[in-house]
Amino acid sequence: MDWIAPLLAWYERNARPLPWRSTRDPYHILVSEVMLQQTRVSAVLDYYARFLSQFPDLAALALADDDALMKAWEGLGYYSRAKNLKRAAAEAVSRYSGALPADYDALALLPGLGAYTAGAVASIAFSIPVPAVDGNVLRVLARLENDARDISDPSAKRRAREKLLASMPQDEPGRFNQALMELGALVCVPNGEPRCALCPVAAFCRAREAGTEQLLPVKTGKKPRRVEEKTVFALTLGGKLLGYRRQDSGLLASLWQLPDEPGLLNAEQMAYWLAGRGLTATGELLVCRRKHIFTHVEWHMLVCRAAVSGAVPDGWTPLDDDAHALPTAYRVCLE
Ligand code: SF4
Repeated sequence: MDWIAPLLAWYERNARPLPWRSTRDPYHILVSEVMLQQTRVSAVLDYYARFLSQFPDLAALALADDDALMKAWEGLGYYSRAKNLKRAAAEAVSRYSGALPADYDALALLPGLGAYTAGAVASIAFSIPVPAVDGNVLRVLARLENDARDISDPSAKRRAREKLLASMPQDEPGRFNQALMELGALVCVPNGEPRCALCPVAAFCRAREAGTEQLLPVKTGKKPRRVEEKTVFALTLGGKLLGYRRQDSGLLASLWQLPDEPGLLNAEQMAYWLAGRGLTATGELLVCRRKHIFTHVEWHMLVCRAAVSGAVPDGWTPLDDDAHALPTAYRVCLE
């Protein structure tokens, strides 16, 4: 792969100075890689610093209180990542004396890691020459090789991994993996036109040569998201917002939520719904619409805001903003 040297030289000059790039601490790198899954760098920066000050090492994370952990992750989404990170920390404490193992296969077996994250941690923190193949890397490779095979097919990852494994620099695998990711983030971008005029490996790019860079990668259509309609109640009692904990499996498992009801209720049905829980609106019911998009489902919400009187219904709690993690899907109902 002739493009490796120009890629590394470009990375040397253009890498963004991100906090996780100035450390080789395996735990810090693991936290950054898990946070960066499905999430933009700009959104991660503050969370990364706060998370590490709250949970400075694997031992602290392994002992984290679940509500405190969810609160630290609040707004970042994909909360199962945080739960798996805690499980991985607990396993590192019990099986590896509180450190992450310097071994790709052992890392890949930790909860929530998988091939990509294990590859990133192994190569960046431990200089183990293994690739870290994610969607960005698949896109860049498909374009560099003008490869029109479907990158959502599991065989694409396997092929990319084998190819990179055979050619990646043995002395600086972490820098190589990061350079490829950075190229995908800054130049060979996912949405819109790739910035070929700025690309350090344009001279080696077969898609650029063939004029197919905007047609690649080929990715078969995802299933359309399911739409769920619901009415969400943003109710305050004595100035405190009311909510309850979600069930411990499925979407947003164990987090806190505002009360809701399937379907879009009209004003009369909302008042009836409140009465059924022993609550009475003390003023007008304010109604607005909100939408929240998850990976596989969209919530179309009718939000009913009201101050209410009555007793806190069984199983409900006055929410404390410092203690209860309310996911963004519900937070947007308060805006
Ligand atoms: Fe991507 Fe364009 Fe560079 Fe090819 S030349 S790798 S399409 S940015």
